[in-house]
Amino acid sequence: MREVAIIGAGMAGLSAAEQLRKAGHRVVIFEKSRGFGGRMATRRTGDFQFDHGAQYFTARGNAFVDQVAAWQEKGLVVDWGPGSYVGQPGMTALAREMAKNHTCITQAQVSRLERTPRGWRILDAQGEIAAPGNGTYHAVIFAIPAPQAEALVQSAGAHLPQLASAHYAPCIALMLAFEPETRAITDDWMRPDDSVIGWIARNSSKPGRPADHQSWVVHARAEWSRAQIDKDPNGSGEIMLAHFKALTGICAEPLHFAAHRWRYALVAKELGLPCLFDPSTMIGACGDWCLGARVEAAYDSGRAMGETLVEALAAIPA
Ligand SMILES: Cc1cc2nc3c(=O)[nH]c(=O)nc-3n(C[C@H](O)[C@H](O)[C@H](O)COP(=O)(O)OP(=O)(O)OC[C@H]3O[C@@H](n4cnc5c(N)ncnc54)[C@H](O)[C@@H]3O)c2cc1C
Repeated sequence: MREVAIIGAGMAGLSAAEQLRKAGHRVVIFEKSRGFGGRMATRRTGDFQFDHGAQYFTARGNAFVDQVAAWQEKGLVVDWGPGSYVGQPGMTALAREMAKNHTCITQAQVSRLERTPRGWRILDAQGEIAAPGNGTYHAVIFAIPAPQAEALVQSAGAHLPQLASAHYAPCIALMLAFEPETRAITDDWMRPDDSVIGWIARNSSKPGRPADHQSWVVHARAEWSRAQIDKDPNGSGEIMLAHFKALTGICAEPLHFAAHRWRYALVAKELGLPCLFDPSTMIGACGDWCLGARVEAAYDSGRAMGETLVEALAAIPA
C-alpha cells in the first residue's frame, strides 16, 4: 500500500482516486472549496438551488456508460431528455458519493509541494496541511485545470511541459429564481442566437429540484465572458438579465439573482492525451483539459491517471 495525494475533488480527481483505492492504495484528497464536484457544481442559497456549472452530461464510452448505469441504480443520476443525464438532487450528488470512500481535506488550497526523503509534503500558504497519516506521499496527482496546475508542477520540479498546450474559455453564469407562476417560454432549455447569452436552462425542470419556485441558469458566450471576466460579476449579471428577459419573455423581477465567474469553464483546446505523468518525480496531472470539455472526459482522464499511477507504484521496490 502506498500513500497518494490528489489535489482537486472534481470528477477527474475522484475518478483517479477510485482506481487507486481499488488497487489497495491510500488516497488523501485536498480540495480548496468547502464541497466536492468542482465544476459539477450545485449552489444552494436559502430555498434556492442551481446547477451553475455543468448543465447535464452524456455517456459514450463503455467505462462511463457502466458508471452512469451504477449511479442510476442508486438514484443519483436521472434523465433530463434523451441521452442527457443530471445528478440528483443536484450535480454535486455524484462527487459526494465518490468522495465517501476517501479521506478528503476540504478548504485546503494547495500552494506548494515539498520533497523530503520520505516523500512529498503538501502545503498551503500557511504551511503543511494537516491530514491523517504521516503527511508524506509517494506520488501526487494534480486534478485541476491545466493553467492552475502549471505553476505548482513547475515549483515541485516536475517535467510536464505539455500542460501549457491546453486552453480554457471562461463563462459568466447567472442564477435567477422567480415565482412559480411567472409566465415564461415553455422550453426547458435553449441555445439562443444572441450576442451575450449562449445557454438558458430552467433548472427547476430537472428531476428532484425544489418545485416551489422557477429557477433558471444562464451562461454567457465565451467571447463576451472573456471581456467581462475581471469586471464586477453583478454588473455582468445585470446585462445578462436584460438579455434573458428579452429572450424568454419574462418581465418579472427575480426573487433571487446571483452571478458567478468561471475563469476556467470549458476546454477550448484539449491536450489529446489521457493524462500526464513524470516518473522521476512521481507527479501526474489529469482533468478535462486532457480529453475535452465534458464531464465524461474528466472521468476518463482521471481513470487513466489512476491506472498509470497504479502501474508506476507497482514498479517501486518495497
Ligand atoms: C459553465 C460550465 C458549463 C458546463 N457545461 C457542461 C455540460 O453541459 N456538459 C458537460 O459534460 N460538461 C460541462 N462542463 C464541463 C465540466 O463541468 C467539466 O469538464 C468537468 O466537471 C471537469 O472536471 P475536472 O475534475 O477536470 O475539473 P474541476 O471540476 O474543475 O475540478 C477541479 C477541482 O480542483 C479544485 N482545486 C483547484 N485548484 C486547487 C488547489 N490549488 N488546491 C486544492 N484544490 C484545488 C477545484 O476547487 C475543483 O474542485 C461545464 C463547465 C462549466 C464551468
